[in-house]
Amino acid sequence: MAHVVKKMTPAQLNQLKGHYHHALIDTPPPGSLFSAKSPHYTITAYKSGKVLFQGKQAAEEASLWDGEASASKKQKPVKTASKTLPLAELAKEMAAERIIGSDEVGTGDYFGPITVCSVYCGPGDLPKLQALGVKDSKLMTDQKMIVIAEQLKTELTHSLLVLPNDKYNELQRKGYSQGKMKAMLHNQAIRHVIRKLKEQHLEYDRIVIDQFAEPAVYYRHLKTSGEVIKDKVAFHTKAEGLHLSVAAASILARAAFLKEMDALSEYAGYTLPKGAGAKVDQTAALILKSKGEAYLNDIAKTHFANTNKAKAIAIKE
Ligand code: MN
Repeated sequence: MAHVVKKMTPAQLNQLKGHYHHALIDTPPPGSLFSAKSPHYTITAYKSGKVLFQGKQAAEEASLWDGEASASKKQKPVKTASKTLPLAELAKEMAAERIIGSDEVGTGDYFGPITVCSVYCGPGDLPKLQALGVKDSKLMTDQKMIVIAEQLKTELTHSLLVLPNDKYNELQRKGYSQGKMKAMLHNQAIRHVIRKLKEQHLEYDRIVIDQFAEPAVYYRHLKTSGEVIKDKVAFHTKAEGLHLSVAAASILARAAFLKEMDALSEYAGYTLPKGAGAKVDQTAALILKSKGEAYLNDIAKTHFANTNKAKAIAIKE
């Protein structure tokens, strides 16, 4: 199995933990600080600062943290290109711009869809968003996000896309990676927002995508897509903290995901747990036994390892 080892400072470990909050597992390996797991990667952080990236997507995930590690190690003053501005300065620069922010939710969850949202937000929208309490969604409760999301929907030009599980599974069987699906959804949501802006005769200065892949990989995923948005696009990890448009996009995507999870739970007759941990295996096993395997196609990302774990549990019991 591919693996990459990185050394990080305590502050970077915190950022790492925040970035993978959706995929953290309940019982990390002995001696580790935390561990995040998806079908595509396992990331384990140790007290020594060592971080182990494993799995198909190990190199891709590790590369997201390249800039961070080297920048802090060398303490080099950063220069001209806006991409390498210190984050606080970059955030300040963006606060004066008209920005389309884009983020996704649900990629590490076995049950439920992937939701992607793109949101337009100009300098004039910022005080309103601050007053609503929009901030990093990792710092907000689900309940608060659901309330704010309703207001954001009416206030901001946006596009919110939901990829249902049966469609996800169909694409996955056709050979689409999750990265490709995400890239296609982001590109589509951004296209929708640009079209809506045009209708209102509004311009934008920058598109900020919360980075989940190297830009080259992102655009490779879009090779077969019709109209690919490349102009003014910037990729940033932890972009929610950089501009409120991304934070708002994240809240809308999260609220939509929660709503779908509620609906699917009602449909299935079980409270479907988030994430991809042991609780998920148990619930999937119950559903397998009572409704059969085909049923999972409509409510879960069936290629996750959870399906086989659930089958093993169902057979034992
Ligand atoms: Mn994100």
